[in-house]
Amino acid sequence: MKNRPYIYADNAATTKLAPEAVEAMMPFLSDEYGNPSSLYSFSRSAKKALADARSVIAECIGASPEEIFFTSGGTESDNWAIKGFIPHGKVIASRIEHHAVINALAYCDHFQRGPGKLLSVDKRGIVSFKSLENALSPRVALVSVMLANNEIGTIEPIRELAEKAHEYGAAFHTDAVQAVGHIPVNVGALGVDLLSASAHKFHGPKGIGFLYCKKKVALERFLDGGQQEAGMRAGTENVAAIVGMATALRLSCDRMNKVTARLSEMTACFRKIITADIPEAVFNGDPEHRLPGHISLSIPGISGEALMHVLDLKGIAVSTGAACDSRSTKISDVLKAIRLPVKLAKGTIRITLGAYNTVDQVKYIADKIVDYCKTIGESNVLP
Ligand code: PLP
Repeated sequence: MKNRPYIYADNAATTKLAPEAVEAMMPFLSDEYGNPSSLYSFSRSAKKALADARSVIAECIGASPEEIFFTSGGTESDNWAIKGFIPHGKVIASRIEHHAVINALAYCDHFQRGPGKLLSVDKRGIVSFKSLENALSPRVALVSVMLANNEIGTIEPIRELAEKAHEYGAAFHTDAVQAVGHIPVNVGALGVDLLSASAHKFHGPKGIGFLYCKKKVALERFLDGGQQEAGMRAGTENVAAIVGMATALRLSCDRMNKVTARLSEMTACFRKIITADIPEAVFNGDPEHRLPGHISLSIPGISGEALMHVLDLKGIAVSTGAACDSRSTKISDVLKAIRLPVKLAKGTIRITLGAYNTVDQVKYIADKIVDYCKTIGESNVLP
């Protein structure tokens, strides 16, 4: 029998590089190796590619090119946004932020003389307005709430939260790493001052991302050195990766409606199989406001980690939670924050479908989960 090709269903961890992005990058990995800062004609194509990529990215999120700063990815963009506000006052964030925000905030605590407040969320993972109102004061310089959560897929009401923060004179940052390229993102409509994104989450290369910073927002410089990125983030630009990122983002935005429709079909098919055969299974996150193709599933009485390994043996890649937490078996802070009972939290897996998945693959994954739950022996049942 022919081996089934590996099924990749962990698109929140990273995504396949789009062939179109690879093609666009190739010249800058070979003949067009000029430094975009150089003044001679050989570097002209690199300089132009950089400017074009900045314009494409700006257009995709409704910004101006001067508001886009290239970084090494989501982690750097988050760190810059948070640490870049240290001189201006306190920074607060939601309890379900990625470690790139939470740990940057912990670093700021040292300067803030006491831990920054973490905003609580409800059972769907929606940030509490009350919690934000209680935390806001004239001493708060920045509020950071993610646009979409990487573990449970919930999309936050960013516009309303940003308006509230602005009422108190605080700037607003959103970690949009899981959202950009997957749902419409327009910085004006969201009303945000800063926004983080990462190319490898939308079929671009790894190690490249960007930070949107609205004009006149008082963000501190991040890296000292040369005058790259308007003197805000020094270092010779990774032209090939930047070109790949812009190509992948343009492609993701162009095909977004089509992909979203396919992902809804696949998700519905998955839910139908699981709810019919495992009625005790729980789908986490907000049922309405959620990322397309994002499934966080909790099955009481099983180990999510064991299921992940069983699926791996069957040629399927899924995650037990956030990829960055995949080496840790403790219950994630996000599942704790939504107050998921321990029995369910232990039996949680995350399946994140993407543009290259098919309905057939999704049926296969669901069937294998059902088989596992049916055949699981008493010895595997958690106390
Ligand atoms: N923020 C969120 C919500 C993420 O999901 C991730 C990666 O998983 C990051 C930030 C970090 O992005 P990067 O891997 O580009 O550093």
